[in-house]
Amino acid sequence: MKDIFWCSTCLNMSTRNRIEFDEKGRCNACVWSDEKKTFNWDSREKELKTLIEKHRSKSGGFDLIVPVSGGKDGSYVTHTCKTRYGLNPLCVTVHPPIRSDIGHKNVENFKRAGFSLIEVNPPYETMQILNKRGFIEQGRPLYGWTTGIFTSVIRIAKSLGITLIMYGEDGEIEYGGSTESKNKAVFSAEFVQRVYLEGQVRDTFRDISPQDLFFWDFGIEGNSKIELSHWSYFENWDPYRNYLVAKEHCGLTEREDNNTGTYTNFAQNDNLLYDLHTYLMYLKFGFGRGTQDVGIDVRRGSLSRDQGIELVKLYDNHFPEEYLKDYLEYYRMTEKEFFDVLDRHVNRNLFEKQGKLWQPIFEIR
Ligand SMILES: [Zn+2]
Repeated sequence: MKDIFWCSTCLNMSTRNRIEFDEKGRCNACVWSDEKKTFNWDSREKELKTLIEKHRSKSGGFDLIVPVSGGKDGSYVTHTCKTRYGLNPLCVTVHPPIRSDIGHKNVENFKRAGFSLIEVNPPYETMQILNKRGFIEQGRPLYGWTTGIFTSVIRIAKSLGITLIMYGEDGEIEYGGSTESKNKAVFSAEFVQRVYLEGQVRDTFRDISPQDLFFWDFGIEGNSKIELSHWSYFENWDPYRNYLVAKEHCGLTEREDNNTGTYTNFAQNDNLLYDLHTYLMYLKFGFGRGTQDVGIDVRRGSLSRDQGIELVKLYDNHFPEEYLKDYLEYYRMTEKEFFDVLDRHVNRNLFEKQGKLWQPIFEIR
């Protein structure tokens, strides 16, 4: 308990995986955010152009894959690839386990905005089993989906002979985590395979047939020529700008009220299990969805750290009660079984139980 602390600029917590702090107590996301202001983006854009030409289709096919969810970030990257660099992007999305109405609407709007989109629907039961196992065994309620969005995209790239996959932001660099890939433009499909199919991951796939696991199988061996990259490496990443561009050009709409667990209404609202995902993050590490949004807003200068603390106190500790019925139905669990899983994954150094829920015993400062 004594050794937990918060970033001196935003509210990133020392419990965050792989996060790094400098001698002034600033997290790596805040350090990078300052560095970006004087960064030489021109040389990075040159690198982008070289990468694009290396992978551009010679036969008039697709030049790259952009994984999307119908949300602001994938929409921004797709739109920019097409309009600024004359690329022909193929978008790929994996149907989320419990899609919200707004998520459905945004994907429909995105299609109408004129982009090519493949929507992957792996067998429903397999996705359910993997998400349920992830929830129970690792406290990762979206386990099947979060792994599937990597594997299926590589599968499709391999099948169609597309050799470049462009993600939005590198979360470790932009929001806090390891700075190892800060100066690395691309990584290989084999690297992703190694990282994502380690130990417990493979074990979660036990007893499911290879046919049903098709979209969780990378389908690559040895050197595949597929390269993956993050747009945030090449251009100053600004989630709010992405939102404005996606709204204007890709039909993005937002909720009329706030998303649950935070004060914003335009990010990650396509998937009801995402609210459970961030609630479990809160129970395991002590920070929730509010903290993440505050970090972004403090770094772009639209919120003070003190205002952020008030928002975090108001929003982080929000159990998504409004979706509990949907969760029980999806996982096919009783309420007791469900809450037992939460009890199993909570960090007892940070929380104590009051009634059926957990309350923080730490004070953010
Ligand atoms: Zn910070």
